[in-house]
Amino acid sequence: LGHAAPVQGTPMRRIVEGLHRFQTDGFPTKRDLFHKLAESQNPRALFITCGDSRIVPDLIMQTSPGEIFICRNAGNIVPPFGEVAGGVSATIEYAVVALEIPNIIVCGHSDCGAMKGILYPHTTSTMPMVAHWLRHAEPARYVVEELHREKSEEEKLEILTRENILAQLTNLTTHPAVAARLARGTLRIYGWHYDISTGDVMNFDAERNEFVHLEPAERLPSATPRPRHDVG
Ligand code: ZN
Repeated sequence: LGHAAPVQGTPMRRIVEGLHRFQTDGFPTKRDLFHKLAESQNPRALFITCGDSRIVPDLIMQTSPGEIFICRNAGNIVPPFGEVAGGVSATIEYAVVALEIPNIIVCGHSDCGAMKGILYPHTTSTMPMVAHWLRHAEPARYVVEELHREKSEEEKLEILTRENILAQLTNLTTHPAVAARLARGTLRIYGWHYDISTGDVMNFDAERNEFVHLEPAERLPSATPRPRHDVG
């Protein structure tokens, strides 16, 4: 334990050099921001997405430190409340109760390894933890199996990815802190599908019951259910 590994010529070299460049070049340009952030944060959204290295939230939304609270896992899964007191549930609770974050985005993506694992279960046979985790996406798998059996493999993967986003939004609403804020109308939830090859985002519009292109507009469609009480 704890012996020093050589850095030269390893994949870590690029990482350590990048960190050094941040400290000497990057940090000084945002010194005031980091100084302000040193004692508090007030993020605009909780962003729940896959661990995939190709999804870079601050890059695709052009956000700065302090703006996006991030929760990542294989397949952008949200276990339903009560089943496990795991990291995702705790992160959601902290985000909405302690930080009072007013928006939650569940973001899936194209070419997702986790979604392929659901579509082709044999690929997870040597990864029991992954297989167990992905059972939270069973509703999405069932929809594809029962309604889209005749589609091409490519189409199935895209439909599964979108259905999984919707399944996880449903799971999200089972969390008491989320349910209470949705009922009160102080929280908005969004389902996004990010395309790695184009940078496009499709956003779920609950009123139209379909994914639509996300564009800057007066009205931003969302997956938020209608509140049952006025904010007052
Ligand atoms: Zn993924």
